[in-house]
Amino acid sequence: MHVDIITVLPELLNSPLSHSIMKRAQDKGLLTVNTHNLRQWAVNEYGQVDDYQYGGGAGMVMMCEPLVNAIESLQKERKYDEIIYLTPDGKTLDQQMANQLSLNENLLLICGHYKGIDERIREHYITKEVSIGDYVLSGGELAAAVLVDAIGRLLPGVLNDETSALTDSFQDHLLAPPVYTRPAEYKGWKVPDVLLSGDPKKIDDWRHEMAIDRTRQRRPDIYKKHEE
Ligand code: SAM
Repeated sequence: MHVDIITVLPELLNSPLSHSIMKRAQDKGLLTVNTHNLRQWAVNEYGQVDDYQYGGGAGMVMMCEPLVNAIESLQKERKYDEIIYLTPDGKTLDQQMANQLSLNENLLLICGHYKGIDERIREHYITKEVSIGDYVLSGGELAAAVLVDAIGRLLPGVLNDETSALTDSFQDHLLAPPVYTRPAEYKGWKVPDVLLSGDPKKIDDWRHEMAIDRTRQRRPDIYKKHEE
């Protein structure tokens, strides 16, 4: 998968995406992420990409022209399956959306700043609007990093068996069961006997039961979907 990201702060994105599993995905050639500084397409030599909002009020708005030039110049290189604007009023990211987005070849992400981007860009270029939750961040970069991480780890070959996404929360509409590691007893706190039993069937059954209990208690909304 190839992801291009348009941003005014590329340095904010480069670090979160260059460690651990995201690094492995890129090292293996399964994911490429290119950040593009919107100021390359600024309207003047001062690097201007935003302006006051019509109607007055505090906060600048990201202008049409630099965004159109950025999007169209990247579109000359690549055909995008989706052009995604990260925005608090978009559809909230969940595992199902991440699963679906991971099936694409090429994505273009747009990070807003200040009051956001001119509405006309949303109307004429954006194909999908994604929020990472009901709160407001200062810019779209951290949201873009969250989205790329959620998608990138699902690409075939990125996770090995040990870390398989299929045993993580939200797949099959269940939360993950509790996990333990050595020692088997610490300060008198014991690991459940079944996990030391060496019986794979018993262990699987216990994990499934725990996942169901945990989901029922903590996320009845998700449990309802599991039952459907
Ligand atoms: N005026 C906008 C509003 O009230 O909906 C908020 C703008 S916010 C300060 C600046 C940028 O941060 C947005 O354009 C968006 O790209 C990004 N952003 C903020 N919160 C976000 C969220 N929950 N999910 C995704 N992107 C977000």
